[in-house]
Amino acid sequence: MIDAKTASVWFKITPVGHNVWAIDHRGLVLSYLVVGGDRALLIDTGTGMADLPREVRKLTSLPLIVVNTHGHPDHAGGNYQFPEVFAPVKDIGLMASSAMNIEVRRLYLDSIIEANPEMDRDSFEQWCSMDLPETKLLPLEEGQCIELGDRRLEVIEIPGHSAGNVAFLDSKYKYLFAGDMIATSTILLFLPESTSVEQYILSLEKLLQRVGEFDRIYPGHAPDLSNPQDRWNSQLPLDTGYLTELLACAKQIATGEVKGEVYKFLPVYGDALRHRFGRASIAYPATGGM
Ligand SMILES: [Zn+2]
Repeated sequence: MIDAKTASVWFKITPVGHNVWAIDHRGLVLSYLVVGGDRALLIDTGTGMADLPREVRKLTSLPLIVVNTHGHPDHAGGNYQFPEVFAPVKDIGLMASSAMNIEVRRLYLDSIIEANPEMDRDSFEQWCSMDLPETKLLPLEEGQCIELGDRRLEVIEIPGHSAGNVAFLDSKYKYLFAGDMIATSTILLFLPESTSVEQYILSLEKLLQRVGEFDRIYPGHAPDLSNPQDRWNSQLPLDTGYLTELLACAKQIATGEVKGEVYKFLPVYGDALRHRFGRASIAYPATGGM
């Protein structure tokens, strides 16, 4: 089952902070590895389309804690590769319903191959069709602290993109890992599991109240799939000014002062609208479903 060749093609690992590595799943999503004095923390497990534990073990031999920022299959799809994972309690139902079935895995692979035609699709087929072992899910909630030895990360609930989305604050090094609530790609707030634009605003304001405790933001998605040569540009990590731009963008949507452009995602979700402001881009329900 384990194929070292597919792993080396699938992952790109880049140091992005003090004992922090970004693990890029072929431009689709980012995991982060945060290494402390006694333990290491893996934030998000990606799609599960290659051997992530093996990549992590290249970077650290310390005991590993694994967490999900939220329950979407591009962030929690590799959970099956780990015996236990801490998952946001409010997204555990979502994780069960959007489990990584073969169809979802093939969709991910299709989008990757489309963006990277030089890749050998057949060598990844094994990852689509394999049976997934059970993983024990442990609860992740507001205020929990994950101790890594000489650094600790606090769990902050920031609902919006999904009801359970959490951020992890490393106040020693002033880092914030925010999942899909803060990404350089369009922020999706129209999914069935999304809350509301108003709730997204409250979550951003909650983070802004603590902005003295972090000055670097690590998003759930940053690479530009349409430009694979430029995956690691000056956008990572993000500055806190990006938060203010997202907040302004969301407030313009909430007050109804903008007319968004039609935004097409997967057909199953129907059309949404998208509004951009500065570097921020937010997609929201087309039918007043805020
Ligand atoms: Zn997501």
